[in-house]
Amino acid sequence: MIPRYLADFKKENLKIEKTDVAIIGAGLAGLFVGLQLKSSCNITIITKKKLTDSNTEQAQGGIAAAICEKDSPQLHFKDTINAGHGLCNIDVVNEVVNKGPKAIQALLYYGVPFDRQQGQLALTREGAHSRRRVLHASGDGTGRVIRETLTARIKERNNITLLEDTFIIDIYTVDGEAKGVFIYKDHGITLLLANYVVLASGGAGQLFKYTTNPEVATADGIAMAYRAKADIRDMEFVQFHPTALVLPKAPRFLISEAVRGEGAILVNHHGEAFMAKYHESKDLAPRDVVSRAMLEEMEKSNTEYLFLDVSHMTEENMERRFPTIYKTCREFGINVPKEMIPVAPAAHYFMGGVVVDKEGKTNIKGLLACGEVTSTGLHGANRLASNSLLEALVYGQNIADYINKNIEKELDNNIKINLPKFKYIFTGVIQPRSIRGEIQELMWKYAGLKRDQNGLTKLTNRLEQLTKELSMPKDVEDFETINMLQVSLLLAQGALIRTESRGGHFREDYPKADKRWKKHINFNIDKKIFYSEI
Ligand SMILES: Cc1cc2nc3c(=O)[nH]c(=O)nc-3n(C[C@H](O)[C@H](O)[C@H](O)COP(=O)(O)OP(=O)(O)OC[C@H]3O[C@@H](n4cnc5c(N)ncnc54)[C@H](O)[C@@H]3O)c2cc1C
Repeated sequence: MIPRYLADFKKENLKIEKTDVAIIGAGLAGLFVGLQLKSSCNITIITKKKLTDSNTEQAQGGIAAAICEKDSPQLHFKDTINAGHGLCNIDVVNEVVNKGPKAIQALLYYGVPFDRQQGQLALTREGAHSRRRVLHASGDGTGRVIRETLTARIKERNNITLLEDTFIIDIYTVDGEAKGVFIYKDHGITLLLANYVVLASGGAGQLFKYTTNPEVATADGIAMAYRAKADIRDMEFVQFHPTALVLPKAPRFLISEAVRGEGAILVNHHGEAFMAKYHESKDLAPRDVVSRAMLEEMEKSNTEYLFLDVSHMTEENMERRFPTIYKTCREFGINVPKEMIPVAPAAHYFMGGVVVDKEGKTNIKGLLACGEVTSTGLHGANRLASNSLLEALVYGQNIADYINKNIEKELDNNIKINLPKFKYIFTGVIQPRSIRGEIQELMWKYAGLKRDQNGLTKLTNRLEQLTKELSMPKDVEDFETINMLQVSLLLAQGALIRTESRGGHFREDYPKADKRWKKHINFNIDKKIFYSEI
């Protein structure tokens, strides 16, 4: 069993500090909350590596918002609901699409230089969007540009402390309320007491062998929230992006859907453009459809990749519109746009996560969450491209509004220090970090694009067995691997229980959606598994 806290906190070894709001994560969600909180708040934003290490930094395509005349929040609503395969929360979708234009205004106010065409904000189209509504910056450098702009604004604020290379092990709770975080840095542990803890720790792509996510995406936030008794749901819904670069020794670098939005097409090893066989929207069909079609084509030809044909673009066009992709392909010796790009699906985005209400509150008092770590109800069983950056902004604002309204009456300068009695439960002999590769292999094999009862049963059995054999964690890599194991198990259990196929969850033994499953599978460490309606 994995204990409530992953380390043995002894008061004599513990440094104790205090802040008003502790924000875990310096991606878009965490940075935006920090900026929107009032300047009388003392804020600490913590990130486990550098500011450049986040999913936000990698975001290429852009942010979806209905800002042009030919578009409307109603159309954006419709596209989001269609992509979500019956599991979206209608109120939440309404709220997010309607607040979209205002969220973009906030980024413009902070100085984000979105790309423009003839003075107007430039908009591109991505899969399953019925309109061009995706704003981008520096071509395919959207996430990096937003992060650079927001961190520059944060550094101008003297009420915000930014801590890099600082790992959060766990959320500190007293009588079921979040009261701070345990920080691990330079082999020492600090208890940072806080009136509010905002979890903005991003995604979990590293659970899988092949992923577009950076190394920091090890599901820490979901795991620590689960240990603190937060409700977690929809873990079985994983979006596999169809087009990640496949080359020996290259990371699975994302080739944005916007490239297909601008006319690129997928072809198989016979040079055949195959997507018309699978969906009327062809290459711009929803991501789960494209990814599974690719898998089928790869299985037929017994290959591990297909090709993205970008030859309709001129070199100048490609370099201007997709500078990062152009440069990366060239660095790896692919002579784009003349040569095709070898691509295959990779784990990309997690629709599930920590359950929050519309204000971003979890079921634990004092713990709020936003961004990819959450399950708000926006994405349902599959996320519409470019809706996640938007969600991070809208929920980031909602959290800031909530804290700004309540902090004075809820401010507690005498937080009780009631350290947990540590029960030594890691009694095994396996060093946690040594099983990281095995988890990733197993997850890819049994909980990847196609799943079935047999494989998922093998997976859960093996993960449960590994859980019992772990020895005491010694460093960040160990903590991360335990988090990966704990969250992989939730994902595998959810996938095993859901005997249907829907959105990002595909069961070969139950290939159709079943209306009895129009509900969420929830996990709570105390209440175990429970179901909730949409
Ligand atoms: C390659 C790629 C391209 C994408 N393109 C798009 C796109 O075009 N449009 C779109 O809408 N979405 C896109 N996404 C998804 C989107 O980028 C993310 O969903 C979004 O950026 C998440 O923001 P976030 O702030 O929640 O998390 P992140 O940006 O991932 O930030 C998480 C932060 O938490 C920190 N952290 C995690 N664990 C700990 C810990 N234990 N202790 C301390 N710090 C911790 C991390 O270091 C990081 O700073 C893309 C994702 C990827 C990977």
